[in-house]
Order: sequence, then structure tokens, then C-alpha cells
Amino acid sequence: MRLSRYFLPVLKEDPKEAQIVSHRLMLRAGMIRQQAAGIYSWLPLGYKVLRRIEQIVHEEQQRVGHIPLLMPTLQSADLWRESGRYDDYGEEMLRIRDRHKRDLLYGPTNEEMITDIFRSHVGSYKDLPLTLYHIQWKFRDEIRPRFGVMRGREFLMKDGYNFDLTKEDALHAYNRHLVSYLRTYERMGLQAIPMRADGGPIGGDHTHEFLVLAETGESEVYYDSEITDLKFGNRRIDHDSHAECQAVMEEFTSRYARTDETHDETLFQQLPEDRRRVARGIEVGQIFYFGTKYSEPMGATVVAPDGSRVPVHMGSHGIGVSRLLGAIIEASHDERGIIWPEGVTPFHVGIVNLKQGDNSTDSACEALYAELRAQGLDPLYDDRDERAGAKFATMDLIGLPWRITVGPRGLANNKVELTNRRSGETEELPPNDAVARIAAIYEPVLNAG
Ligand code: ATP
Ligand code: MG
Repeated sequence: MRLSRYFLPVLKEDPKEAQIVSHRLMLRAGMIRQQAAGIYSWLPLGYKVLRRIEQIVHEEQQRVGHIPLLMPTLQSADLWRESGRYDDYGEEMLRIRDRHKRDLLYGPTNEEMITDIFRSHVGSYKDLPLTLYHIQWKFRDEIRPRFGVMRGREFLMKDGYNFDLTKEDALHAYNRHLVSYLRTYERMGLQAIPMRADGGPIGGDHTHEFLVLAETGESEVYYDSEITDLKFGNRRIDHDSHAECQAVMEEFTSRYARTDETHDETLFQQLPEDRRRVARGIEVGQIFYFGTKYSEPMGATVVAPDGSRVPVHMGSHGIGVSRLLGAIIEASHDERGIIWPEGVTPFHVGIVNLKQGDNSTDSACEALYAELRAQGLDPLYDDRDERAGAKFATMDLIGLPWRITVGPRGLANNKVELTNRRSGETEELPPNDAVARIAAIYEPVLNAG
């Protein structure tokens, strides 16, 4: 993309309404625009990152065998009356009436609808195990929408639902989700720690929340510092193997890590003092096993091997796709702006032309732009007629991990500058080498799916 032809409405001033850094930077970098309390338009730069995050979630879900579908945002109230949640859910549910006076709601989650799909089309244990998921907009009429996309009213969520014959199989699905989530967040450059959590209105005893540590997080968390040394990395796991998934689950959940809802001070005090940590975290996902809570009242049953009809064991599993943008920025920024991890950056590299209109710098930039694109990369070329300082400030604000700077003095020796956004380190090298270096850096990112 050429910046002169892009739509990047950056703000010069700090917006007054933003209390936390991610919200401020998303507004300043022209990523989002608030349209009503907790409801946002995704401007092109924000939309690009949202799509990258969504893509990673899709790839990691499908890697472990989960099947994508798409359910609507509007749901019939009758389905929710069957489970009893139409009355229980309370004021967070946005209730709507259509012209025929039928009650609808804007879905805050989809357990009822997916159970309805399941019971209409699946009848035998032979069709199990089955995990279906979608990435769809949700609405929760949060009493205090705040912090930008972090606590919106309309937000994008991946929600997935497993259907299994037995509790044991459903707990395997739970562990498999945990494994897949660990990899998902690491691809986004995040450490998200599974912590024992509370079931809330979705219900269930088996549940973990995934938390990103950040001072601005809304949850208070208590954990053993050893847990932050764990990495999932590039392990290859057989996702059908109960033992392998169970082992990962135990590795990542055996140390003390809980939110304030489940915190147990006596247990916590048993840790050596220098390993006890009390901090704040952002919830970026949650997994649940809830047994037959929905399948029983809604009649989602299958014929078991012995011929009897039994309700299926279920769980649900959510990732806060739109919240993740805020969480990543909270975890990765400096005083000049955002620092995108390579896995989610909107553009892979920025090209800054220090002397727009100069034949040699213009043609060197054009060549770099074409070469990078030929390598399958997505560069942003700042071809505006602006001072170098303004170009650098924009690049720093929008947080591209790498920048190539092209000026007449360097070019005289066939050199450009390659700068790392995070460390600030700069290296001079020939343009072709810069392209090769960027291509090598992104090779694992582009092939991670
Ligand atoms: P919270 O406790 O933050 O209100 P929740 O536990 O009610 O969230 P879940 O039902 O577990 O939310 O939804 C799955 C994921 O969706 C959460 O882990 C979170 O990342 C995201 N999410 C939930 N509510 C919001 C919201 N209002 N705005 C943005 N993302 C949200
Ligand atoms: Mg939750």
C-alpha cells in the first residue's frame, strides 16, 4: 500500500476520552472510531489487524479439527426460553421485537443456537466427537463499556462448542482447546496464562480463563511466578491423543494461577514468598466444560452404542478477537506508539523515502516496494511529500516492526537503513539484502498457518 493513497486518519492530539494506552493509541493511529458507547467502526488499519487475528484463530482452530460455520447475530427468544436463560441473563441482553411482535435478541453467546443445530441434525454417537465454532459479532449491553475495544458492547468473538458422548471425551475436548489456545496466543506474540476461573452465567466447574498480564487489566490475578517461564512453542501434538493433550493441560495448569473469583489465600501462602505474584490481567479467552446443562433441557441426545438415548456432553470456548487488539497493544508499546508483534502487524514493513521527488530515492523505493511484494510481503510505502520527522513519527505510532529508510546519502553507496521498531537498532545494508532479511524474518510467520 502507498500511504498517499491509503486512508489513515491519525490524530495529532491525545484524545481526552481514552483512559488507557491501547485505547489512546488505537484512536491516534486511526484504527477505530466510536459510533456509540461501546460500538466502533473499524477503520482500515484496525480492520487489517482484526482480520490478521481472526485468521490466526481460524488456522489454529482448524489445525486441531474444529469446524467453522456461521450463525446469525439475531436469535429467537424462544430458544433461550427453552434453556431458561431468557429470564436469567438480565440486562446485558439486548432484546428486540420485530414487526410481527416476535421477541428476538442480539446474541451475547450461542450455546442455545448451536444446541438447536446439533439436535436437528445429529442423532448417533457415530457422528461424535464434533466441535463447531464461528467468529461472529456479539452484543452485551455492558453497564460500563470502556477502554475502547477492550470492553465494548458490540465485540467480535470466536465461540466454539464441543459435543461428545462421554464426560471423558468432553474433557479431552477441553484439554485440546487449551492446547490450541496456547498456540493461538503465542502466534500473536502474547503470553496468555490459563488461570482457574469461575463459571458465571454460562455455568460449569471446569473452566480456565486465559489472562494477559497488564497493569490496566480488569481482573486481579494471583500466580506462581514459575508459570511465566512456560512456553508452548513449536511442539507437535497429536490432538486426538487424550494423553498428550492431558499432559499439556497438566503442565500449564498445575502451578497456582487464579483470578480473584477463585483465589484461595491459604493455598497461595504455601508458595515460597519470592514466587508469589499479585498482578492484574486482561481476559482474552475462556474454556468451559458444562456437561449436559444445555443438552438435557433442550433434548440434544444421541443413540449410544448400547442403543439407549443419552444427552451429549458439551463445553464452550471463547476467544475475545476484538479485545485482543487492545490486549496486544497494552502488552507491546512504548512512548512513541504501538509495537506490533510480527504475527499480527497490519503491514510487514514500512518504507520511508527521505527525499520524495528525487529520482534516485523514488526509484529505489519503488524497486523495494515491488521486490517486497514479489516475496509475498505487505509493505507500507510512505510516499507522501512530508518531512522525515513526520514520516518517522507516523511509522512509530502505527507500530510496524520493521522500517526501511531510503535517503540520497546512503543510496550513493548502495545502502538503505533497516530499523527494528522495538530495539531501535539500525543497520545499513544494500537494498537487496534488506529485502532478503525481511523475507527471512517473516518466513516462519507466513508459513505458521
Ligand atoms: P468479562 O468477564 O471480561 O466480562 P466474560 O467472561 O463475560 O468477559 P466470555 O463469555 O468468557 O466473557 O467471552 C469470551 C471472551 O470474549 C472473553 O474472554 C473476552 O476476551 C471477550 N469479551 C467478553 N466480553 C467482552 C466485551 N464486552 N468486549 C470485548 N470483548 C469481550
Ligand atoms: Mg469469561
